[in-house]
Formats: sequence, C-alpha cells, structure tokens
Amino acid sequence: MALLQIAEPGQSSAPHEHRIAIGIDLGTTHSLVATMRSGQAKVLQDEQGRVLLPSIVHYGHEVVFGEEAKPFLTQDPKNTIASVKRFMGRSQTDIKFQHPYELMGEENQMPAFQTTLGAKTPVEISADLLKQLKDRAQSSIQQPINGAVITVPAYFDEAQRQATRDAAQLAGLNVLRLLNEPTAAAVAYGLDQESSLTTDRNYVIYDLGGGTFDVSILRFSKGVFEVLATGGHTALGGDDLDRLIVKWAKQQLHLEQLTDVEYAHFMIAARRAKEQLSEAENVDLQLLEHTLTLDRATFSNIIQVALDRTISVCKRVMRDAKLSLADIHNVVLVGGSTRSFAVSNAVAAFFEQTPLCSINPDEVVAIGAAITADQLIGNRQDGALLLDVTPLSLGLETMGGLVERLISRNTAIPVARRQEFTTYQDGQSAMLIHVVQGERDLVEHCRSLGRFVLHGIPPMTAGQARIEVTFQVDADGLLAVSAKETTSGVEASIDIKPSYGLSDQDMQRLLLEGFEYAEQDKQLRHLQETKVEAQRELEALQQALKADAALLNQAQLQSLETAKNHLQNQLQTQDIKAIEHAVEQLKVYSDAFAAVRMNSHIDHALKGTKLDDWSNSTSE
Ligand code: ADP
Ligand code: MG
Repeated sequence: MALLQIAEPGQSSAPHEHRIAIGIDLGTTHSLVATMRSGQAKVLQDEQGRVLLPSIVHYGHEVVFGEEAKPFLTQDPKNTIASVKRFMGRSQTDIKFQHPYELMGEENQMPAFQTTLGAKTPVEISADLLKQLKDRAQSSIQQPINGAVITVPAYFDEAQRQATRDAAQLAGLNVLRLLNEPTAAAVAYGLDQESSLTTDRNYVIYDLGGGTFDVSILRFSKGVFEVLATGGHTALGGDDLDRLIVKWAKQQLHLEQLTDVEYAHFMIAARRAKEQLSEAENVDLQLLEHTLTLDRATFSNIIQVALDRTISVCKRVMRDAKLSLADIHNVVLVGGSTRSFAVSNAVAAFFEQTPLCSINPDEVVAIGAAITADQLIGNRQDGALLLDVTPLSLGLETMGGLVERLISRNTAIPVARRQEFTTYQDGQSAMLIHVVQGERDLVEHCRSLGRFVLHGIPPMTAGQARIEVTFQVDADGLLAVSAKETTSGVEASIDIKPSYGLSDQDMQRLLLEGFEYAEQDKQLRHLQETKVEAQRELEALQQALKADAALLNQAQLQSLETAKNHLQNQLQTQDIKAIEHAVEQLKVYSDAFAAVRMNSHIDHALKGTKLDDWSNSTSE
C-alpha cells in the first residue's frame, strides 16, 4: 500500500501480542466509545445496554452522569453541566453564548464552573465523562486498555486540542492521537483504503448533531487527509428541529403562550415524534390534552428553514474549497439528526448523489476512531497509518507587526520547521518570540498563542546574531517552539499551552478573512515592510549623527534634518509611495554622509569628496 507509514511511541514490536485500544467520540450532546473485536469496529454498551452517553454531569450530593443526570438539567441547572465541549480551551472572554452557569476565574483564563462539589474546570468535567467511557470499555472488554484515540472537530485550535488531551490524561488514558471528527468518519467508511490511490479524492462530511452543524471537505491525497474547508453553525442542530415542530404545533392548536413546564413537555414530545418519523410514515404527537398527526412531508416543510441554512453553508465551503459538485466522490452523513429523511434527502438533492449512511451516523465517528486506535497501537502490522493536517497556519511576529509563517495551514503532521532570524538593533541582548496562529499577514488579525523571550544574546551588531527558531507540531496538532542563538548556543523554548483558545466562529472568521483579505493583506504587508525599512534607515542615521555630526557643515546638516523630518512625517501616513519616496530622498543624503564618514575614517580628508551629491539632490 502506498500510504505513509510512521512509527508511534508505544507501538508494539512483538508480532502476536494483541493490545487493546479504544476510540472515543467526545461529543457536545453525546459521547461514546468503540473498539475492534474480531477485526470489526464495535460500539460498546453500558450495563443497561446503552451506547450513547449524554454528555451531562451533575455535581450534587454525588456525581451523576449521562441519562441519570438529565432530570437535574431542570431541577438543578447550575450544578448540572451539559455541552461542556463548548467551553473547552476557552477563556471567559471567548464564551459569548448563553448558559446557566456561574463561572469563576480570570477573564483570560479557562474558567471553572462553581458547583456544590467545588470548582470544576471544563477539562475536569470532560475527564469525568472520559473516565465513564474508559470504565465502560474496561468492564466490557475485561482487559486493560492500552491506548485511546479521541476525536475533536476539525476546526479545534491548539488550546482546544490541548484541553482535550489534558482531559484524557486526567482520565488516565494513554492518548495515541487526537483525530479530526470528519477524518474519523471517512476512515469508518474505509475511504482511506480506496484502491485507486493514484488520483486524489474529495469527500464532504455533513455532520448535523444535537446542537451543532459542521461540514468539512476533505481531500485524500497520497495517504493524507487534508481539510480543504470547514464551515458550520454552533447553534444549529437537532434541538432546533424540535423547536420548529413545537412552533408548528402551537400554531395548529392556536396556543399563544406556553408555560416553561408545558414547553419542556412539548419539546420532549416533538423530539420523540421526530425520531419516530425516521421509522414511520406518520406519527401522533401527544400534547397535553391534544393529539396532532405529523407526517414526513409536513415535517419536511416545517424544518425547511433549518435545512436551507445547512445547504447554504455547504455552498460556501464548496466555494472556499474551489470545488464543483462533480469533484465530490462521496458525501458522508454524520450526527443523529441525519437519520431524518428530510435531512438526508436535502443533502442528496444538493450534492446530486446518494450519501453514505450505512453506518449509524451517531456512531460513525467513534468507529473511525477505534479503527485508527487499533492501527496506532500496532495490531495491524501491515496497516498503513493516515496522517492529519494542521487546521490553521502557525508563525511568529516579526518587525512591524508582521507574521512570518513557519508552518502553513493543511501541512501534514507531525512536522517540524526551522527558520533563521536575526537581531534588529546593535547590542540587542534579548528577543521576544511571539507565536501566532491564523491566515492573515498582520499579527493583530491573528490569534496570539504565546510568547517567550530568548535572553543572553551576546552583544553584536544588528543583523549579526543567528537565531534559529524551530516549530514542531506533534501528531495531535500540538505545538512546541524553541529558539537558539547559534553563535553562542543560548536557548529558550515553550510548549504552547495557552489558557484559552479560538471559538469556532473565530476560527472560521480567521480562515475566511485569510481568503477575503489576501489582496489587502499584501498591501498592508508591503506598507509595514516599507515602514520597518524606513525606521531602520532613521535608526542608522541617528547613530551616525551621534558619532560624526561634526563632519558636516550647517547646510548639509540642514538638508539631512529636513529629509529626516519629512520621512518621519510620512511615516505617520499609510501612503506607501510617499514613504518610499521620502526614504529614497533621505538615502541620497545619508549615503553621502556615509561616504564622508568613510573617507574621514580613512584619511580625515573631507574636501573634494562627493560634494556633488549634496548639490545634486533636491529637497521637496
Ligand atoms: P452530537 O454529536 O452533537 O453530540 P448526536 O450526533 O448524538 O449529537 O445527535 C443528537 C441529535 O440527533 C439529537 O437532536 C437527536 O434528537 C437526533 N436524533 C437521534 N436519533 C434520531 C432519529 N432517529 N431521527 C432523527 N433525529 C435523531
Ligand atoms: Mg458529533
């Protein structure tokens, strides 16, 4: 097979030793675990035979999970944490959506939920959920678990991935890999095993879950899944379909207002009806003393507005990926809500093909994770390993607030890149390394991931020091940055562990802006570079004047001052042409001054040297 093969630490070398690895889909509304059994990926049930664990934890007198925690959502909402995934790797300032919780902690730190059982961070809560699934797997398999693959949304950034990895470690899991959810779904369908690997293939993964919608376009090329584009809505999912049914029912029954209790009752009935419609042609909705019949066609009409929204996102990601419908080899359905015929029909109609849905859409991500986990733990010696890619570009800040990209978006990971930088000022003894993530050219438009200072650079002239900066992204997409001054050997490094991360809206915005502003950014970059160059020119001149101003006569000094002031004024503007012109003018004088200095240093003879230059140049 032509796929790339990489050895992982912990990979078994003994050929016949079978090791146990699990795949976990840590979902916003539901989580589940799967593993390989007799060559087949299987989802694991709890003692009651349930596969989906509602991602809910109640911290009351004791800790209650999943289905059992559900009643507390209304009885004790403050102590009952649902959808904790939305909080992973985020700071308080990132959390702009509504929620019933009391959050503690610093504004720009990951917050903690205030509960009866004390402060609980999103990482701890996710760890508690993961522990449940680990225990379930352990008692079901009756063997120790050697490793796990945990899935994350494709748009998850460094901080969100790091938080997920931390949670898994806290749960006592040996994390083999964090895997993108759409990639996992593609693996479940064996789309990485297609025989004709000579040509690239494009896949659409349409994921409509309980409260979120994600669509990703993946390209499978030479053993690597590349994310071409992602899009979605953080507040569009099965819950919204339920709300639309309730709205319709209220109209049918001419009900104006519902009490909270009535509304909750209607929502439960609506959800049940919606789910039954995936089996039956029509269903009866029991609403208090009323009964309504809902058929598939009516349901389809009711939810059309939500479907239209998902399709318009699909159109946008197709545009972002620069693909047409004919370029798409398969469409994969993911998420419980795609069980509704109205949903799968809408997807089929838009993409003009029958989507893949033979694997349960709410289990497919965990299945793909289990297959990948089995490969990574080394049970399939022949098995090739698929690689993932970085979701956003990684770079660092250079002079003028510009971003120097070291690793661009969609680079296959693991990866390491090294680049040399130098000092800007004479005698500069420290250098600030500011690591950023995003697609734009200016630091202010990207996300700051972390900073550190390389101290102890020996005093040298500007541009002499050789500072080697290395970016290393491991297989989970986690970044470590190090810097080394090579002439002296001083070193500094950090693992990027920011206390907060990007929201997925931010993520999409950054990606889209990267496309939209490409031209404008080029202009801005040019402007910044011109300004940096000009500043450098002024700095150098200042130093020279400090040393040798006495070599110039009054008129010469005056011309130099005028040109200098003119440039300084132009630097306050955004006018590239004017700045460039002012730099050129100043250079005429400063070059002449440099020549004068040189001559003076050689033989102290000033007269007769390049005086023409002074008279040739005209001031504005
Ligand atoms: P997430 O990945 O966001 O945690 P899921 O993929 O588990 O969520 O999807 C949950 C949603 O799927 C819920 O809104 C639920 O009502 C819906 N759902 C589950 N089963 C069905 C079904 N048979 N028909 C229609 N919708 C369903
Ligand atoms: Mg999901």
